Amino acid sequence: MIVFDLKCPENHRFEAWFKSSSAYEEQLKAGIVECPYCGATDITKAPMAPNVAAKGNTRVESAPMVRGKDDAKLNELVAEAQQVFAKLRSHVEKNCDYVGDQFAEEARKIHYGEADDRGIYGESTLEETKALIEEGIEILPLPGNGRKDA
Ligand SMILES: [Zn+2]
Repeated sequence: MIVFDLKCPENHRFEAWFKSSSAYEEQLKAGIVECPYCGATDITKAPMAPNVAAKGNTRVESAPMVRGKDDAKLNELVAEAQQVFAKLRSHVEKNCDYVGDQFAEEARKIHYGEADDRGIYGESTLEETKALIEEGIEILPLPGNGRKDA
């Protein structure tokens, strides 16, 4: 499988996976490669991004956001996502240790084998979160507010 950066005439950029370079050419000719944003089939390869972050120096300055309009499909997907987040949250609250604002410190200790390997959750500042990610420590943002029963 190979991934291509593609763009449509409206300059929407997106990635698509193909079995091979020739599979991409064939699907393009057949008109089945379409822009996920506007459905255009007049697709070309996008030029490579000019700046590639050096490995180990990934910047986490911004996160993708969406502001939808009133759209039944979007509302349905948002409702599904909220249910999934609620499930994730309740599982985490039942099965992980709450460490409050010691999260970053505790996650680091576990990562470096200085504390028992276990699931934890708590609060972390943006700065702490960036540092953890830069150290290669796997963490996941938990949507919603802080601990409800605290
Ligand atoms: Zn498009």
